[in-house]
Amino acid sequence: MKYQIKIAQKAGFCPGVKNAFLKSYKIAENHKNTCIYGEMVHNNFALIPIYQKGIVLKKTLDEIINDKNIENVIIRAHGIPPNEEELLKNNGKKIFDLTCPKVKKVQLLAKKLSDEGYTVIIFGKENHPEVLGIKGYCNENTVVIKEFDDLKKTNIDINTKLALISQTTMNSIEFNKISDKLKNSYSNISFFNTLCDFPIKIQDNSIEIAKEVDLMIVVGDKKSANTQSLFDKLTSVKKTIFVETENDIIIEEIRSFQKIGLTGGTSTSQLQIDSIKKYLEKNL
Ligand code: SF4
Repeated sequence: MKYQIKIAQKAGFCPGVKNAFLKSYKIAENHKNTCIYGEMVHNNFALIPIYQKGIVLKKTLDEIINDKNIENVIIRAHGIPPNEEELLKNNGKKIFDLTCPKVKKVQLLAKKLSDEGYTVIIFGKENHPEVLGIKGYCNENTVVIKEFDDLKKTNIDINTKLALISQTTMNSIEFNKISDKLKNSYSNISFFNTLCDFPIKIQDNSIEIAKEVDLMIVVGDKKSANTQSLFDKLTSVKKTIFVETENDIIIEEIRSFQKIGLTGGTSTSQLQIDSIKKYLEKNL
């Protein structure tokens, strides 16, 4: 049987992550004793080149500050709170800020709203690094909600001006639902759609491909919420499997599918997708 393998056009690293990876390689070439504060993406495979270039992973501020060998700190695309950046600088660390420009915009918007007296409602995941970073730009009148009912658990002052913003990678349908409910409940609220459209583009493009093929393969790390959500969406359109590496592929089980589509979330490297394509071409 002649197999056709198609890669979704937008599959893999988003511009923010791609830019951060490329810049971190350059930083590693020119600066020894460099660490990255937190994993660049939730994808062990994609992180290998970073560590091969000599960048070490540090998961906490204390680890960085207490390690006298570390001179340079890379801030990943998610960004960090400004007080943490300050602390690193005060401890003599040189900062390479690779915060995605779109995330930086949200951080600065959050700060502006907060400075103007708004209570900032962040639609996002409480402990997600991007949310922690954005929250750090606001004063204490800030709450994080994952759904409308979460607001009831907070003690926000509804007499202040309210503003809704979002973690960049949240679901747009949920954002609109929450906005509608807030609109019906509060008159003094402003809305700022700060979602990034790139994950949606990957999703739409992957769904188009899924309609043309017999089997979809999502490539990425199963820890990545973003890639998992892409997988969930695709399963409702076409038979889909989720693989991290070629070891997850049972070739006999996919031989009956002539047209195969490949995709990956914003944390999946193009290299990873290409390596699966090559593996299929060689083994089918
Ligand atoms: S998903 Fe969007 S906001 Fe997040 S890092 Fe990628 S480009 Fe930036």
